[in-house]
Amino acid sequence: MYLRRRVAGGAACCVGCAFGRWPSQPAAQEKAGSATDAVQPVKGGGRAEAADCIVVGGGIVGAVVARDLARRGAEVVLLERSSCGSEASGLSAGTLWSAGMPRLVTERDAATYLRAGSSELLRSLGEACEYNRCGALELAVTPEDVCWLRQDCEAGKRKGLAVEWVEGVDLIMLEPALAGGSALAAIHTPLSGSVQPALATRAIADQAESAGGRVIEGEEALSIDRSQDGSAWVVCTSGGQRFAAAHVVLAAGAWSAPLAATAGVRLPVVPVKGVICTSPAPPSTLRKVIYECSSRRHFTEVGDGRNDLLATPAKCTHGQDGTHRLVRKLYAKQCGPSDEHQLVFGGDRIPGVRDDDYSVPEETERAVWAHATELFPAAIYDLVRGTLRAASDEAGAWAGLMPFSADGKPIVGELAPLGLPNLWMACGFGPSGVMEGPMAASLLAARLAARLGFAGDGDGVGLGGDEEQRAVMRAIDPCREGCCARC
Ligand SMILES: Cc1cc2nc3c(=O)[nH]c(=O)nc-3n(C[C@H](O)[C@H](O)[C@H](O)COP(=O)(O)OP(=O)(O)OC[C@H]3O[C@@H](n4cnc5c(N)ncnc54)[C@H](O)[C@@H]3O)c2cc1C
Repeated sequence: MYLRRRVAGGAACCVGCAFGRWPSQPAAQEKAGSATDAVQPVKGGGRAEAADCIVVGGGIVGAVVARDLARRGAEVVLLERSSCGSEASGLSAGTLWSAGMPRLVTERDAATYLRAGSSELLRSLGEACEYNRCGALELAVTPEDVCWLRQDCEAGKRKGLAVEWVEGVDLIMLEPALAGGSALAAIHTPLSGSVQPALATRAIADQAESAGGRVIEGEEALSIDRSQDGSAWVVCTSGGQRFAAAHVVLAAGAWSAPLAATAGVRLPVVPVKGVICTSPAPPSTLRKVIYECSSRRHFTEVGDGRNDLLATPAKCTHGQDGTHRLVRKLYAKQCGPSDEHQLVFGGDRIPGVRDDDYSVPEETERAVWAHATELFPAAIYDLVRGTLRAASDEAGAWAGLMPFSADGKPIVGELAPLGLPNLWMACGFGPSGVMEGPMAASLLAARLAARLGFAGDGDGVGLGGDEEQRAVMRAIDPCREGCCARC
């Protein structure tokens, strides 16, 4: 069992302390005369520092919300208990599936829309974040998968998406590493790609600071409550500080539900463990991001959205007890220079885990390597065999905790319909928060800024018209049926 992510220079970081700043580093400079100098009376006496908005959680979602609000001129405080990007965002594979924008965006196309928008937003961060629009292949390995995936491809084309059907020699020419493997055909999405997610999250948090936001790391939010006069929300922290703001955005990933409960909200988000196995490899071993379609097909057949938290959250590979694998899953990509070009292979999504369980099940590692050698026997087999032989010096694996919602959709928007105005949720992105979270966060920030009276261009908000953006926000509304409730 290995618990680390390899980083440039051969160093290895422990989960939870990886990447960027350590918690004890100083917080952002305060702007002279800013609203955060102001104070608010709070329940139980005492006073709190005031801002326009407090964002709880410095993953990729919270960082984009804070950045976009700060860029519009709002006084924003971002509270991160560890360092920005130290949890799911930094531990993810950073694959970005995108097929561009559908001609017409309805609620059913929300994920496609968010992926197209997030991809553009991450691309704008530049090469420093190792954004790579290399394209992706979603593979079919059985005749049944071929039929199912081909229909999916045709449906995508009818919607105007950038999808291509490839098979036979064309497939091998696109990705020579598949030669001799089990893939029969694939959907090629040239607009897909990848990013180094820890670098991207850090870059966005830094942009939030540069725009005047206050990014406070090493400060855990303990509760969210009303101020004494009910006009503001107050967030109490582990450092004994209190922050008051008209608006609070909860973006604490897999740890969001207990915090929401302090504000009287039942938030259907649970931690699901995602595991990544790595292998050293020379650059250009893999050209494309690879997904195998059988898990998506099976998730769809099982019926996303029909499960609830008493059963298994949608899109998990294992049953709720975390021990029985229901679906086998594999994706792969080759990293950039900051990760020494290593190959990463992901698979299992295991529910029923504690929110501090980062252990890597040996069974998961075995399943991932077995699956990888089926898909890439020629190119990968020797690497994997070498990796396994070399054991701890070469092989790597780590786990992260993904914020899964009950119905598999993100939870983004205000809780005003529940009688909790100015309390916003930005969580529940499950296995796709890097490719969907930035755009959703950007849309939320645009709405929130408008409520605060700040207009202006946001980053990433520019895709589609108002009606399309409203359709997307309806699909991920926290007050949709079966989602958030008062408790
Ligand atoms: C192994 C793995 C592979 C993945 N691969 C992909 C992929 O290829 N593509 C993709 O799109 N997605 C992928 N994901 C999913 C993606 O990483 C998540 O959906 C996304 O990062 C969620 O972002 P977030 O900001 O909501 O949560 P997080 O990144 O977890 O951020 C939440 C932050 O809140 C902080 N926090 C928690 N509680 C508090 C508190 N009380 N006070 C202050 N701060 C708090 C945490 O420290 C954390 O930094 C993967 C995830 C994993 C684990």
